[in-house]
Amino acid sequence: MTQQFDVVVIGAGPGGYVAAIRAAQLGFSAACIEYASYDDPKGEVRLGGTCLNVGCIPSKALLQSSEYYDMATHHFLMHGIKADGVKMDVPSMVRRKENIVTQLTTGIRGLFKKNKVTLLAGHGGFVGTRDKQMWQIEVRGQDGTQTVVDAKHVIIATGSKPRQLPGIEVDNKLICDNVGALSFNEVPKRLGVIGAGVIGLELGSVWKRLGSEVTILEALPDFLSAADTAVAKEAWKVFTSKQGLKIHLGARIGAVSQGKNGITVPFQADDAAGDLECDKLIVSVGRVPNTDGLNGGAVGLKLDDRARVEVNDYCQTNLPNVWAVGDVVPGPMLAHKGMEEAVMVAERIAGQGGHVNHDTVPWVMYTHPEIAWVGKTEQQLKADNVAYRAGQIPFAANGRALGQGDTTGFVKMLACAKTDRILGVHVIGTNASELIAEAVVAMEFGASSEDIARICHAHPTLSEAMHEAALAVDKRPLHF
Ligand code: FAD
Ligand code: NAD
Repeated sequence: MTQQFDVVVIGAGPGGYVAAIRAAQLGFSAACIEYASYDDPKGEVRLGGTCLNVGCIPSKALLQSSEYYDMATHHFLMHGIKADGVKMDVPSMVRRKENIVTQLTTGIRGLFKKNKVTLLAGHGGFVGTRDKQMWQIEVRGQDGTQTVVDAKHVIIATGSKPRQLPGIEVDNKLICDNVGALSFNEVPKRLGVIGAGVIGLELGSVWKRLGSEVTILEALPDFLSAADTAVAKEAWKVFTSKQGLKIHLGARIGAVSQGKNGITVPFQADDAAGDLECDKLIVSVGRVPNTDGLNGGAVGLKLDDRARVEVNDYCQTNLPNVWAVGDVVPGPMLAHKGMEEAVMVAERIAGQGGHVNHDTVPWVMYTHPEIAWVGKTEQQLKADNVAYRAGQIPFAANGRALGQGDTTGFVKMLACAKTDRILGVHVIGTNASELIAEAVVAMEFGASSEDIARICHAHPTLSEAMHEAALAVDKRPLHF
């Protein structure tokens, strides 16, 4: 007898597992299909997708460990702490990261059990429909078994995979994408990185802090072009001059080869040209949607010109009762964006009014200093001819930042010149990832800069810089 579910989710990343859990919470019979084992020692399917296994979580674990090492070797002294002979044990750092991943992926299994979500281990793909009432989805197990389940609703959450560059073969030993780059067993003496985006800068920072000589080749002539220009300028200064990351912009890459001297990457950039020689190379040039083996073509699933599943504002595809969320659909490839879409879809299936405000999705880079923003950049407002007022406060004017020994960066707030409504907030500095939450809440509630200026912020905290930036919009900061 064919198993039937109200909702079948394909993919168990942040988009997929959240969709399945929320659907089950709403009273639906829900199943989630996942095939990847991400090198699980027992060969079992691992839940959590890219984010938990080879993305957000492991990268943040390594960033934290390497930051502690950097603090011990470079920053403790200013606090009067002498820590001679500090050594980095890379295998222990990587083991810790793997333990965190195991704990979290196992945790999702627990959440599936608690919420009565059925896990279907295998590769999911469309077969067709049963009497035009139910979707038939095939689940192909690793052992070759093939099962077909019926679903009233299907949620595609198959995520993304690293974009490949022609002629550069990733083996995840010497030439790595995010998977290999999160598992080096020693610090490479010379690390090359192609792409100065989020992965390049986060993972470049990890290995730089641990002692690698890091060179990043970026195709675009501008650094961090999606960020506010003031933030990008400050980040460039800190990453290159202070931290010693070598970044070449406007880089064109030639034929990559491997030999006695390691990997050779010929390049021509705006400021230099030559051969970059390195012991490991990370290729981080963006990610592309993953619809491999989904068999969407057989049922007429529409993709857009960038091979993403085409959806409307509510994540409905062109097929009845087929939805898609997360990295496989347009929008920023961020875990929290996928999770929000997942909740919206489950609630819409239940007839509720779930929605996602894509204008208030925060962006965060977990470098040091961290970079976070929400809403419009100053250059976007200028391009859109929007009249605005700006307030910017450096952390150098913040007592807590001074006490912590790190005054890098600033908070910048942009508000509408006519209504004072907050249009964008940009933070570069310690804990920017946490500070941005206040700005997201404010923007969701349609707050003005005056609203933030009139709210009591605890003293001494970094959040006071947000308060002062709001005051600065009205040209009346109290401490700057
Ligand atoms: P995925 O997480 O990619 O999950 C999709 C899952 O579907 C996979 O497990 C895949 O095996 C499975 N699948 C695919 N096809 C099928 C099929 N046919 N049948 C069954 N299963 C299938 N985002 C942030 O917000 N913050 C961060 O700090 C952050 N850091 C990152 C660091 C790195 C190194 C990387 C690579 C990414 C990072 N991201 C971060 C991005 C984040 O990981 C993704 O946005 C997020 O994982 C997308 O979730 P998803 O559910 O759409 O897809
Ligand atoms: P990215 O889009 O952030 O950066 C890719 C960079 O590579 C860009 O700057 C691009 O101009 C450059 N590039 C492209 N082709 C190139 C070429 N041929 N030569 C040199 N440079 C080239 O992509 P990513 O760093 O690979 O990360 C992928 C996605 O994962 C991101 O878009 C992001 O959504 C997600 N991610 C998020 C976080 C976070 O939220 N903190 C962290 C890591 C990854």
